[in-house]
Amino acid sequence: MTSEVSHRWLNQSRELEFTCDLEGRVTWADPRAARILGLRPERALRAVSVAGTESKLEALLARACHEDVSRWEVPLLAFASPSTVCFSTHLEQDGHVHFFGSVLPDSLGSTLRQLNEAMADVVALNREISRQKKELSAKNAELTNAYQELEESNKGVLNLHAELADRADSLRRAADVKGRVVANVSHEFRTPLHTILGLSKLLLEGGDGPLSEEQQKQLRFIRSSAEELYALVNDMLDLSKVEAGKGVLRPQRFRAEELFSALRGMLRPLVPAGSALELIFEPPPVDLTLDTDQGKISQILRNLVSNALKFTERGEVRVALEQVGEMAVFRVRDTGIGIASEHFERIFEEFGQVEGPLQSKVKGTGLGLALSRRLAEFLGGSLEVESQLGQGSCFTLRVPARHPEVNELERLQHQPLDPSRAPVLVVEDDRKTIFMYEKYLSMAGFQVVPARSVDEARSLLERLRPQAVVLDILLEGESSWKFLADLKSNAHTRDIPVLVVTITGKEQKARALGADEFWLKPVDRERLLRKLRSLARPGAPARVLVIDDDAKARYLLAKLLEQSPYQLLEAATGPLGVACAREQLPSVILLDFLLEDRTAFDVLDELKADPRTRAIPVIVVTSHVLDGEARARLAAQTEAILSKDSLSRELAIHRIRDALAKTGLGALNGNGGHRVGQH
Ligand code: ADP
Repeated sequence: MTSEVSHRWLNQSRELEFTCDLEGRVTWADPRAARILGLRPERALRAVSVAGTESKLEALLARACHEDVSRWEVPLLAFASPSTVCFSTHLEQDGHVHFFGSVLPDSLGSTLRQLNEAMADVVALNREISRQKKELSAKNAELTNAYQELEESNKGVLNLHAELADRADSLRRAADVKGRVVANVSHEFRTPLHTILGLSKLLLEGGDGPLSEEQQKQLRFIRSSAEELYALVNDMLDLSKVEAGKGVLRPQRFRAEELFSALRGMLRPLVPAGSALELIFEPPPVDLTLDTDQGKISQILRNLVSNALKFTERGEVRVALEQVGEMAVFRVRDTGIGIASEHFERIFEEFGQVEGPLQSKVKGTGLGLALSRRLAEFLGGSLEVESQLGQGSCFTLRVPARHPEVNELERLQHQPLDPSRAPVLVVEDDRKTIFMYEKYLSMAGFQVVPARSVDEARSLLERLRPQAVVLDILLEGESSWKFLADLKSNAHTRDIPVLVVTITGKEQKARALGADEFWLKPVDRERLLRKLRSLARPGAPARVLVIDDDAKARYLLAKLLEQSPYQLLEAATGPLGVACAREQLPSVILLDFLLEDRTAFDVLDELKADPRTRAIPVIVVTSHVLDGEARARLAAQTEAILSKDSLSRELAIHRIRDALAKTGLGALNGNGGHRVGQH
């Protein structure tokens, strides 16, 4: 027992022991007898008897002096309060009496007192508990209320959300339906309108006999109404196309002067003869060329100028162009009736017109500006108005002089062919689809060469031989069918597989002309990849040698290049790497900067010293921060320096591709010998 435990036991135990002489004087007492009864040698045992009960102790003493006593109870003062102690005694040979005692559990009184005290405690505790309970239930009620409120408002939010989603959904559906109806109806309207316009023209020209004055007048009314309707239908059709995201960008290079002179020729006739109104085209900046959709720019400007002419009686309508940074800024100013600022937004809405006596004199559909703004945005630009009532208006059209996608498409068209990737010619007029093909075909080992028209495709075919052609066109124009027919009838191109991906269901015609596959849009990516892989002629994949003493780094690179068209060779030391390079002649080497026993410079020296390995492009991969000198030295001897920290699949593949392109294998040469990797 440790001293602490024994001490506690002593404190709690009611057992005690002491000896007395025959006179009842204490001769020895154990610590408990001393503590509980206050007995010490020399003290009389009688001193601790409870007043009035002395005889009981005397009787015990008298008996114990003659014989051993067992379990004799006497009242004594324990801790100075009356208690009952039960004794057994033993008469020792030396004449002393040995007492073994045990203080009995507290007498009834003290037990009751204690009970009372405990009860009082319990009552107080109970009171405290019920007070806390009350508090808790009040808080609980508050919480329940708050929870209910929250739940209510949550329900509200959920309902609102569902309602909004419903509305958005039905709006989307309505917009879809509207778009389709408008597109179909407009399309259907055009044919009969063509007939009305054509026939009224014939009649007016007198081809079928002379007409009376009155008949001519009536016919002219018919014709001008039909013309208005025709304009409206065309605007609606254009608008619905742009809104549905089906606008097609047809970028081309053109000189600003050409655009202005074409517009001048087209719009001059709108100026009433003999009117006090002048249409002026300011000379555009000399030699300014634009590379964007000329048709759409011209359409917007025609709209703006014809509006300006409509709403201006005298003075001038002035068209100007300037280049501000990357943007071409066109301004159409007039000295007409002007527009109040509160109508600035409304006029750009569909069918938004200003109502007033001046406006009511001229006819219009209210679609022109809505369409013009959409077209401007479609070209990556904007259309704004400034105006003052009675003073005239100025419409400003800002568009990038070179459409951003033109740059991107050109880059794709003119990038060198990567010998490790199979080129696929994608004939597609929708740039979004081109970029989509680019994205998922390029990572799978193919190189997309885009052609936005059949003509472009033909000229690209003169320079390269693709592994396959994805002919993704609206097979409506005869030229597309003819292109397919030409490809398949020409001995040089007959073998190139053509996959037709389209929205028209003319499979028979496509097959008859020699299409190898016919799919309806949208094309399933996996299916396309599977097909392309099965069509592409398999060849040896480009081999990439990784020299790195860290197995984890090699594993990581192998993982990164897993789906790529490259085959990986690995070497764990510099000498092994150099030996492997000599034997296997990899297309590219990825070299760790710090190997166990040498640096990249040592390995580079060995590679450059051997004529067999001298020309193999090396890309250094490092996890070290290189100092300026080391970086410059490495840059001079290697293709690229890649940091292990920021290494990604795309980066690795691009760097390898660039390195391969630099070996001279990458020019557009149409040799048909491109290899395609294992997948
Ligand atoms: P439309 O001219 O066919 O009515 P637009 O969308 O082209 O439709 O024009 C919308 C409205 O904007 C016109 O009806 C007219 O009230 C106002 N507006 C457009 N251009 C001018 C202008 N140059 N001067 C004054 N008001 C104009």
